[in-house]
Amino acid sequence: MSDQVRVRYAPSPTGHLHLGGARTALYCYLLARHTQGAFVVRFEDTDQTRHMESGIQSQLEGLKWLGIDWDESVDIGGPYGPYRQMERLQLYQPFIDKLIEEGKAYPCYCSEEELAQEREKQEARGETPLYSGKCRHLTAGQRERHREEGRKASIRFRVPEGLTIAFEDRVRGHVEFESDGIGDFIIVRPDGIPMYNFAVVLDDHMMKISLVIRGEEHLTNTPRQILLYQALGFDIPEFAHISLILNQDRKKMSKRDESIMQFVEQYRDLGYLPEALLNFIALLGWSPGGEEEIFSKAELIANFSVDRLSKSPAVFDTDKLNWMSNLYMKNADLNRVVELAVPHLQKAGYIPEQLDAPLRQWVESLVKLYQEQLSYAAEIVKLTELFFKEEPEFEEESKQILSEEQVPAVLNSFYAGVRDDEDFTPEGIKQLLKHVQKETGFKGKQLFMPIRAAVTGQTHGRDLDQTLYLLGKDKVLRRLSAFVR
Ligand code: GLU
Repeated sequence: MSDQVRVRYAPSPTGHLHLGGARTALYCYLLARHTQGAFVVRFEDTDQTRHMESGIQSQLEGLKWLGIDWDESVDIGGPYGPYRQMERLQLYQPFIDKLIEEGKAYPCYCSEEELAQEREKQEARGETPLYSGKCRHLTAGQRERHREEGRKASIRFRVPEGLTIAFEDRVRGHVEFESDGIGDFIIVRPDGIPMYNFAVVLDDHMMKISLVIRGEEHLTNTPRQILLYQALGFDIPEFAHISLILNQDRKKMSKRDESIMQFVEQYRDLGYLPEALLNFIALLGWSPGGEEEIFSKAELIANFSVDRLSKSPAVFDTDKLNWMSNLYMKNADLNRVVELAVPHLQKAGYIPEQLDAPLRQWVESLVKLYQEQLSYAAEIVKLTELFFKEEPEFEEESKQILSEEQVPAVLNSFYAGVRDDEDFTPEGIKQLLKHVQKETGFKGKQLFMPIRAAVTGQTHGRDLDQTLYLLGKDKVLRRLSAFVR
């Protein structure tokens, strides 16, 4: 095996890029870039019932969006392709033949029903269901007879008895399994398609993978794979089984759980910044030590090490994600935030599909006013609602304020000022407010709160001058007029 670190992300492309998959891919990527190694993305597309093509595309797009690139895959090729299993079937055949020839694998003619019955009986006896080994010792004649009956054979691996299979996992440390707990398992289905545990070993071997990084849920597959490496006479790669991701209730995140958005695409569609999600995902099961949590991709690459992957499960904390995303959003280039926000404002029907220059300018100022509050771009819709509704919605607190004694005087004076202000610029608005203060003798909260409440329906918000300016003279006058006598 060469000294170069070679790692791979090997999804079954049955759907979009899941957060867990993205995390595996990210750790592989970071390690490959840290060590000047190679990152391979290959696809386990043997589940023919699903839409593999779109799954492959959406996985690659999701990775690309996150800022993860690869050195070998279906789109750019590489020295060890093809990079999807269905195109590799002929590469597997010699190994299947070899295992059968050497008596390490054998055809099994048991039908689904027979196997199910066997399992039921074992379960009824309180045993862990294991294949009985019924077809292990079939004679050539018996095999012939099964074939004549039209039975299709799967190929099973003959699991050696009485072995302890041990390995040093880079995350979990020393791990051991007994081979007696593993029944002879199927490596090739009756339709000739190899099963995961077999194909993954052949792929990892042929692609010279040096370290297998994958989710903890695969830990029990690893002894099966090690037995196959041994039977085939291959070097065994290292393994790093990364911890589970739990939801906020500390339960294993299940793909059906709707309390968490689990797919990278969902975050993209809401207008999260990819570098924020990347930073967040990186810390789900890895930390460089220390308090610091904000890392650019370059810093992640510089700091990454397998030894700092965590053994304990990671909890997916949406509040933390939003806190982190907000930090990125605040510091993002305004144009970028505008680009992300515009489609959401359009979807809400707030602004048209085509923006002329003045409207574009106005939208930019609006986004700028709220940029600091955003964790993701879609939040702009709720935050700016008051600019687009005919009438503001009045919060209870606003109603309270508007019933205060000084309100008519303040609003009358301000109304008259706005009416007579030709330009209605932010600077002019500042002057107007000063004028109202002078004229009525009210200042501070007593002055600003009623104006804000009357015009926005709210008691808190962004900078008042800028808010009034962006609302525009007509809207401000209209909203004030409801309180003016
Ligand atoms: N296709 C498997 C998965 O998506 C790959 C497991 C592995 O990395 O070995 O979980």
